[in-house]
Amino acid sequence: MRRGFKKEAKEIALQIRRDLRLSLTAPIDPWVLAEWLGIPVVRLSDFRKSAEGAYRYFSELGRSEFSAVTVFDGSRRLIVHNDFHAPTRQASNVCHELAHGLLLHAPTPILDDKGCRYWSKEIEDEANWLSGVLLVPDEAAIAVVKRGMDLALAASYYGVSVPMMTFRINVSGARKRVQRFTRRSRKSTIRAG
Ligand SMILES: [Zn+2]
Repeated sequence: MRRGFKKEAKEIALQIRRDLRLSLTAPIDPWVLAEWLGIPVVRLSDFRKSAEGAYRYFSELGRSEFSAVTVFDGSRRLIVHNDFHAPTRQASNVCHELAHGLLLHAPTPILDDKGCRYWSKEIEDEANWLSGVLLVPDEAAIAVVKRGMDLALAASYYGVSVPMMTFRINVSGARKRVQRFTRRSRKSTIRAG
């Protein structure tokens, strides 16, 4: 990831929470964020009639192949996501696409000139990172560790998968930060006693 990106992502997420009047430890609903950004979110199951073949393939055999995609009409965006995935995965898929939008990532062709799926690691890494920061800010990860919350419970509270919650706790340095905090307050308790 490019230099300064993580700081930028944090600022974007902070601004979003300010705009949505959400505290740093409150869960965020990607569908509410999409509405606020004016980006329509359409479910794969909405295509049951209009694109039956694609619908059947991606809801059954190819379920894992399709998470979500942003469709462009000029500069307007629309997100199509696979609502056959687990709800937490749907939330992170939609949030990932919204992150592309917030980062103003330009549309890329679905297939490159060799007919392979087009995929830019840098762009995807950025969207994944911002999506994680939006769903579980550092402050939320710290609150989870501080309260000794069960990981599965914390994950469902924030609408993310357990691996995502674990990832956010690890990269935010929440455990170390809480340890430091407890050590400091223990010291002051001793001093006060
Ligand atoms: Zn992406």
